[in-house]
Amino acid sequence: MTDAAVVGSGPNGLAAALTLARAGLVVEVFEAHECLGGGLRTEALFDSEVLHDICAAVHPMAPVSPFMRSLPLREHGVRMMRSPAAYAHPLRGGQAAIAWNDLDATCAELGPDGERWRSLMLPLMECSEDIVRLMLSTQRTVPPLRALTALAPRMPVHALRLGGGLRTEAGRALLTGVAAHGIGRLPSSAAAAVALLLGHLAHTSGWPIPRGGSGAMAAVMAAEIEKLGGRIHTGVRIDSLRELPADRRITMLDVSPRELARIAPLPAGYLRQLSRYRYGPGAAKADFLVDGEIPWTDSRLSQAATIHLAGGRGTAAEVAQAEELTARGVLAERPYIIVVDPATADPARAVRGRRPVWAYAHVPNADTRNPLALIRASIEARAPGFGDTVIAERGMSAAQLGEYNTNYVGGDIASGAMSLWQTLVRPVARWNPYRTPVPGTWLCSSATPPGPSVHGMCGYHAAASALKEQGLHTEL
Ligand SMILES: Cc1cc2nc3c(=O)[nH]c(=O)nc-3n(C[C@H](O)[C@H](O)[C@H](O)COP(=O)(O)OP(=O)(O)OC[C@H]3O[C@@H](n4cnc5c(N)ncnc54)[C@H](O)[C@@H]3O)c2cc1C
Repeated sequence: MTDAAVVGSGPNGLAAALTLARAGLVVEVFEAHECLGGGLRTEALFDSEVLHDICAAVHPMAPVSPFMRSLPLREHGVRMMRSPAAYAHPLRGGQAAIAWNDLDATCAELGPDGERWRSLMLPLMECSEDIVRLMLSTQRTVPPLRALTALAPRMPVHALRLGGGLRTEAGRALLTGVAAHGIGRLPSSAAAAVALLLGHLAHTSGWPIPRGGSGAMAAVMAAEIEKLGGRIHTGVRIDSLRELPADRRITMLDVSPRELARIAPLPAGYLRQLSRYRYGPGAAKADFLVDGEIPWTDSRLSQAATIHLAGGRGTAAEVAQAEELTARGVLAERPYIIVVDPATADPARAVRGRRPVWAYAHVPNADTRNPLALIRASIEARAPGFGDTVIAERGMSAAQLGEYNTNYVGGDIASGAMSLWQTLVRPVARWNPYRTPVPGTWLCSSATPPGPSVHGMCGYHAAASALKEQGLHTEL
């Protein structure tokens, strides 16, 4: 007997499956890949002992997402590790702007922008729980008043002015580097929301990395599902909902809107609405096996797990120019790049000095170029000699990333452009965005609110909606 079938085992598919299993339903998960986890996979790519995250590596949402907080990570031996700085941004002349976990230390280094940084971040930190509740909601509930009060005066400034009210190049670049995680034109409302959310979390619970890599988080979710009697099948691509167990009452789809249209018998009206859903620029990724620390010119960068790179001087304007070109479908000569060095947070990730380094560049959707040379050159410019430390490497174009995981259409790792409109109306304009017109079938991927990143809340909200229809209740 199967009560619920879940297609896709990304964090949202697993969150949906676990929420249903916790409510007493018999759940079966079907995953196309041989390995479960979707964006949460960790593999030994080049050296059998060195673990690389294939997609997500850094988890600002894990300590704050209500669903992720419900996971017994510690019971399963998974510890969240933090580097002293959440993120950093190299600038002209070799010096970097650094977002230390400690707000005071960050402000002290930002000179004339120090107090502006504090007055931006501190009020957000003081009502962080409410801000997270708002941003990780279905976007269809009454926003907590404290969150609105903190965000209302800040959002317009950051949505309209690059770098907000910050005036120094260091402060403006540091904040713009975070805003660019939203992938798209800058400034914008969506980018402002990303900057304010991720920016303040750097100084509260930080941007942690799970010991052993992201796959450890997927393994905990899978173990909890199986403990409750659920079954997970890998290496099974679902091409039609008819392939799923016939006796199921609920179907959860952790898939892209494009895949939803391919595998589900949708009515013409809904298909028309879905066809208006827009995908954003792509990501092109490089993995390196590196001998020793990255030789950054500013050696303090070795204390930050995440580094943002853009342009030649690293200015906020260069980040925006690169994002503008990418959004227009042009490969920037020096695109915005995120580099992650997990061993700065978890020294055990480096084995006999050999460490995994991960980086991706924002590129046009479906771009087919291998990003290795571009990413290498950008790191080398801030860390002369980096190339000599590389033992092994591989590049994955945006098009290849899209083939690797059909949720990342054309390499769009957000599974849908992150405009303000598409953040709220995701994937179509409906009060319940999870419910599809196919009876008993819900979409639960990051193409639903609250959108991308590893928080599991799209899966949780979709499962909660399904349970409600069954007269069952769930709460986090
Ligand atoms: C390179 C990269 C780096 C990233 N870095 C970060 C980061 O550091 N931090 C962060 O928070 N987020 C990061 N992300 C984003 C994050 O991984 C995603 O937002 C998240 O994984 C989305 O979860 P999901 O469950 O919606 O989809 P996914 O994780 O994409 O999972 C979907 C799963 O469904 C399966 N599937 C799809 N269709 C079918 C089908 N028809 N039949 C069977 N199975 C199917 C897929 O194979 C896949 O396993 C990154 C993504 C990428 C690609």
